[in-house]
Amino acid sequence: NGDPSEEVQRAQRAAAGRSISSPVPPTIFTRIINKSLPAEIIYEDDKCLAFRDVNPQAPVHFLVIPRSPIPQISHVNTGDTELLGHLLVTASVLAKKEGLSEGYRLVINDGKHGSQSVYHLHIHVIGGRQMGWPPG
Ligand code: 5GP
Repeated sequence: NGDPSEEVQRAQRAAAGRSISSPVPPTIFTRIINKSLPAEIIYEDDKCLAFRDVNPQAPVHFLVIPRSPIPQISHVNTGDTELLGHLLVTASVLAKKEGLSEGYRLVINDGKHGSQSVYHLHIHVIGGRQMGWPPG
């Protein structure tokens, strides 16, 4: 139907407040990185950290984020290649540690149509149940 969910409405409001030319404002994830906001961090190294999503969509749902505040996947460039590879490998290693032996879903939401709500790049790792396709 044409009635967007609360999640989508939140993402649309976040997108409306942004433009490509504006500087990158700190997000809630900056506060998780610098430990001024508590989160259940399951992994961290010099380039990234991973923590459980506060609103899990499956039995296992965590986020892998770079320490550097890249706002979204559509803003990356070739200089980010190694970092992005590191995030993906970290997601895979942690998925295994979390026991997701039957498979899982990686998601990167981008911008308004992607229903992105936090403008600090993150990979969702979602598993522990059967996923559907296509996504909503
Ligand atoms: P997006 O919609 O931008 O792809 O995903 C943002 C995710 O961050 C959502 O799944 C949301 O539940 C999660 N999130 C938002 N704020 C917080 C927070 O303060 N702590 C944690 N752990 N997760 C958050």
